[in-house]
This record gives sequence, structure tokens and C-alpha cells, in this order.
Amino acid sequence: MEIETFPDYLPRLPSDQPGMYNGHGFREEDVMGVWLEGKTLAEKIKEEVRQEVALVKESKGAVPGLVGILVGENRSSQVYLKSKEKACQSLGIWSEIVTFPAGTSASELRAKIDELNKNDRIDGILVQLPLPAGLNPHEVIAWIDPDKDVDGIHPYSLGLLLENQPGLRTCTPQGVIELLKFYQIPIAGKDVVVIGRSLIVGKPLAAMLTNENGTVTVCHSKTKDLAQVAARADLLVAAMGKAAFVGPEFVKPGAVVVDVGINSVSDKARVEEFFGQDPKRQKDLQEKGYTLMGDVDPRLIDKAGYLTPVPGGVGLLTIAMLMKNTLEAFKRRRKL
Ligand code: NAD
Repeated sequence: MEIETFPDYLPRLPSDQPGMYNGHGFREEDVMGVWLEGKTLAEKIKEEVRQEVALVKESKGAVPGLVGILVGENRSSQVYLKSKEKACQSLGIWSEIVTFPAGTSASELRAKIDELNKNDRIDGILVQLPLPAGLNPHEVIAWIDPDKDVDGIHPYSLGLLLENQPGLRTCTPQGVIELLKFYQIPIAGKDVVVIGRSLIVGKPLAAMLTNENGTVTVCHSKTKDLAQVAARADLLVAAMGKAAFVGPEFVKPGAVVVDVGINSVSDKARVEEFFGQDPKRQKDLQEKGYTLMGDVDPRLIDKAGYLTPVPGGVGLLTIAMLMKNTLEAFKRRRKL
């Protein structure tokens, strides 16, 4: 795959020096191993948002406002929302988390969303998914004013995406696009395979990659000969939620591989199979009892041309894109 230019700081493993994951039977000339880390871009986006928020605060006397709604006691959802709130605080964005008990009725939730829709101080409303059984997420998301849909999953936002018209874009997929652009990885004309067809990752990402003129194939749990289809890709995206499911047979040598998956793995033997005695992973196991890994076997760094790490890749961009969308919603609503 052609790559036009690269920022100097990229960690490139010289092919004459064994990489961390060498020894998996790939030809020496296939070993390129560039990690597409997400931190530099995520920090850059957040810094731009921080500066613009400070500017509008000074010139307009107002800052963007984001409300996160949490229904029930899902531990991961609590952690995600807290980290979103923390990001808001660090960038000068006003934020609040509104919590409801698991048994909340649709009408109670709707009343809150209506109130937030009407509140001019609020620019972004995000309903943390999944919702408890009994609340239909499609129905609930559709109650949000599309102008405040900073998660980019309202049917109106998704319609604008399909039309390739400006609008609020789904955060994780937009993060993938921004990451590819940051590393100047061409999409136009490339064979692209996306594994996963969810409404928050796979489908919007497939639409975005199509808008960028990639030739996109979407795979899912019913796809036949998945590995063969994936191995045709110049650019392969894994978004399925299955730890290290994507092995060497899925990857064309030199392909760009984007790993969206975030899976916690607690089995020590399994962790050591993928990461050897890597001290960071050992520390995770000792301190937290698990480590996070993606849908792609990380040893594929020896076969893929480029691979996003987990953690430290796409995941870091999701919150950065949410912050950018909140500022964007603020500006659009005020016609700035
Ligand atoms: P999901 O469960 O809604 O969808 C998974 C998709 O993968 C489905 O479309 C399914 O058809 C497909 N799939 C599952 N098993 C498959 C198989 N064996 N073969 C082929 N396809 C298969 O998940 P999601 O919400 O789209 O999330 C996917 C992954 O991305 C998860 O690991 C999630 O944690 C992660 N994620 C990360 C971020 C981030 O910020 N980086 C954001 C959202 C989701």
C-alpha cells in the first residue's frame, strides 16, 4: 500500500532488527510494523478544541455544554461517562451527568430529553448505551434534537452521513477517518473491508469510507469465507468485539489494519500468548486482573504494514471527536 509521507516520530521497526512480535513465519520483506498510535492526534484535536472554547468564551461569553444521560448501573457506562466529563472539564466545556435508576420509564426519560432539548445552554446530549431492557435505544435516540446529537447516531445525522452532507458524525468512525488522514493513508480507490455492521461503528464507518471513495465491503457474523474476504483488503477494519479474532489469514501483507475492538482479557496464558512477558501487560494483570486488547492479534504487526494499537489507538480518538462535535454543535446552533 502506498504511503505518501510519514511524520518522523512514527515508530518504524527496521526489517533487519527483529521486532517484538517477529518469528511468526512471515517473510522478512513483509515485516514493516508501524504502529498507528492515536495519542498525538487525540491531543492535537483536544488542544484545538480547548483553544477555540477559550476564544468563544471570551468573545461570546458562553461555553459549549454537554449532558450525558445514564440509565441504570452499568459499570462500564459509568466509567465511560466519567471520562467524558473529565475531558469536558479539561477543555473548558460545561458538562453534567444525569442519572436515572434502571427501572425508569420511557415517558420519564423523554421528559428529561425534551427539557434538555429546550435548554439553550445545552449543545450536546448523549445517552450512554446500552440502555436497560425495556427502553428502546432507537426510540430514545430519536427524541434528541438532531442539532444536539453529538454522538452522531440520530437517524437525521445518519441520513446526512449517507447523503455525504455536513453534519454531526458518529464519534468512533470519525476518529478512524481522522486517524487515517493524519497518517496520510490514502482511502480513495482502495479495497476496504470493514468487519462489523453496528450502528455506532461498522455501518457509519462503511458510509464514511465510501464517501472517501474507498471500495467498501462490509462483513458480519453471517459472512462466508470471512478470512478470504478480509485478506483482499488494502485497508482492513475490525470492529466486532472478539479478542484477537483477526489472525494472519485475514491480512494481506502490508495492509493497513485498524483495530476498533476493545476487549478485556483476564486469562494469563492467553495474555502471554499475545504479549509474551510484556511488563505493562503483566502489571495490568496484577493490578486490575485484566488487560485490554483489540479484535486483531497484535503479533500481526509483523505482517500488516500498519496497525493501530489497543489500547492507545482508535479508542483515544472517540472522546476527542465527542469534544469536537460538542464545540461544532455549539457553533452551528449559534451560526458561528
Ligand atoms: P456490536 O456487538 O454492536 O457489533 C459487532 C459486529 O461484529 C456485528 O455487526 C457482528 O455481525 C460482527 N461480528 C461479531 N462476531 C463476528 C464474527 N465472528 N464474524 C464476523 N462478524 C462478527 O459491537 P460494536 O458496538 O460495534 O463494537 C465492536 C467493538 O468495538 C467492541 O469491541 C467495542 O468495545 C469496540 N468499540 C470501541 C470503541 C472505541 O472507542 N474504540 C467504540 C465503540 C465500540
